[in-house]
Amino acid sequence: MDRVLGQPNALDMLARQLTTGRRHHAYIFHGPVGVGKFTTALAYARVLLCQDRVTDLAGQITACGSCRSCKLLTNIAPDSDQPEDSAPDDTLGLTSPHPDLHVIRKELARYSDEKTIRDRKLTRIPVEVLRGALIEPTNLAAKLGGGKVFIVDEAELLNPAGQNALLKTLEEPPAGTTIILVTGNEDRLLPTIRSRCLRIAFAPLSDEAIERWCDKHADDLPKTQRDNLVEFAGGSLGRAQLIVRFGLLAWTDSLYPALDQIAEGRPVADLGQQIFQFIDTFAKDWVDAHAGASKESANKQGADLMWSLIATRARRRIAEGAQRCDRDDPIGSEAALSPWLAVIDAAEQAQRHLASNVNLSVVCDHLAVSLTRGLCAAT
Ligand SMILES: [Zn+2]
Repeated sequence: MDRVLGQPNALDMLARQLTTGRRHHAYIFHGPVGVGKFTTALAYARVLLCQDRVTDLAGQITACGSCRSCKLLTNIAPDSDQPEDSAPDDTLGLTSPHPDLHVIRKELARYSDEKTIRDRKLTRIPVEVLRGALIEPTNLAAKLGGGKVFIVDEAELLNPAGQNALLKTLEEPPAGTTIILVTGNEDRLLPTIRSRCLRIAFAPLSDEAIERWCDKHADDLPKTQRDNLVEFAGGSLGRAQLIVRFGLLAWTDSLYPALDQIAEGRPVADLGQQIFQFIDTFAKDWVDAHAGASKESANKQGADLMWSLIATRARRRIAEGAQRCDRDDPIGSEAALSPWLAVIDAAEQAQRHLASNVNLSVVCDHLAVSLTRGLCAAT
């Protein structure tokens, strides 16, 4: 567990759970996507399932690394020196290497006995999957005798019916059962679920942590692109991996100069459709790489990345502008910063429009008009 870097508060809380011996039976690991929540859940499961836990030199309780349980988990909970250094295997949970570690994720629906569930697009964790993979197995005896751990990845994809079905198990779990709900969107869990779990917060990683990842996985990038990658990643290694895997530095290469050009009073033709094409291409590539994935969800994921990219860039320009501002000239300062504030507003508005089901292409065109109007207002 000590190898999962960059989350000292979360790891301290879990270490205390182990040393005091008064462990919670249900947890929510919440925080931004791609900062090590799932990796930490696997590492914690490895300690919980170990048949011969040891106390290390620092006084921390840790997995022995040599019992039968630890050996089964060597490959899926490696002693990685970075959170999510290797992204969790999509098949994990479908073929768990350990009989007492159960990973529940939306992809399990593909293996349902019922055709209607198998054929559904993977946008939710169906309640039937939750019953078969978590609620019913909690009542079975542990195969290796060392307890059972259930990890629900993207737990916010459980609809209210699924969450309600989970309540009783969370309330009175069979002895030796630990349930970990991993979520990047805790607001979508019912208050009744949240109140029954120990909530552990994960923070965005530092830029230095992302830099260290770049040293290993993106060391051939020119300095500007590398800086753009760190900025776009916004403290999420998961996002850094996504950017590299799907070639999203093309977005920063094209849009960063475009935004600066508009800020100089020169509008960019077809900006809305450029933005739309970037999102659409990403969504198509995503669906091609993930069997059963829904294009609509992928569009939304791509769009969220795009709004974040634009808002992050605007925040950077505001921070730089604020340093240059003359404190004795508030009107001049306001004039320098407000165009970029308008860009953030435009990105937030695009997010709201898409959430209310406005067509993506229309949202992108509207965004381009709004941010052009905001940026050009200064010139
Ligand atoms: Zn062990």
